Amino acid sequence: MPHKILDYEVKYRPIKYPRIELRTGRIVVILPEGHDPDKVLQKHEKWIKDKLNIIADALSEAKRKTLANRSRNDLREIVERLARSYERELSVKINKIFIRRMKTKWASCSPQRNLTINELAKHLPERLIGYIIYHEMTHLIEKRHNERFWKLVASKYPNYPDLEKQLLAYWFLIMSDFRC
Ligand SMILES: [Zn+2]
Repeated sequence: MPHKILDYEVKYRPIKYPRIELRTGRIVVILPEGHDPDKVLQKHEKWIKDKLNIIADALSEAKRKTLANRSRNDLREIVERLARSYERELSVKINKIFIRRMKTKWASCSPQRNLTINELAKHLPERLIGYIIYHEMTHLIEKRHNERFWKLVASKYPNYPDLEKQLLAYWFLIMSDFRC
């Protein structure tokens, strides 16, 4: 199926690696500053294309999904139950659990071992909530997204690349619901 061409804006910043921001519903490709912006753009062309394809897939996938209707408390119960069981599985200890509205991510885990889950996760299927929690708790063992990290994640979620794609699709779906 041909991908629909996505509209995007390019910005240059003093960063090392390119990234894409979707915050305001617009796609902004952020590239490292260089002497020749055109050359920088050319250098990252394939990376941009790959990323835009992932986003285009997620957007069309979003149309096939529906959002769960849970309360904040329902979410808290699920998170607490799953976090307790993953503590045993991963042999790690969580300190506190917070449910908070976050603008750019599903969850985070602090060095103090506090787990914060985005309140918007209440709209996700439980298996994806589980994946988000497991992913964050795995960061207590390995901070970076390196090979060791993904190996640990894959031992419980071998299909994690698909789960990451689904999370992006749900993110778009939730964001589009907020706009109307
Ligand atoms: Zn991570």
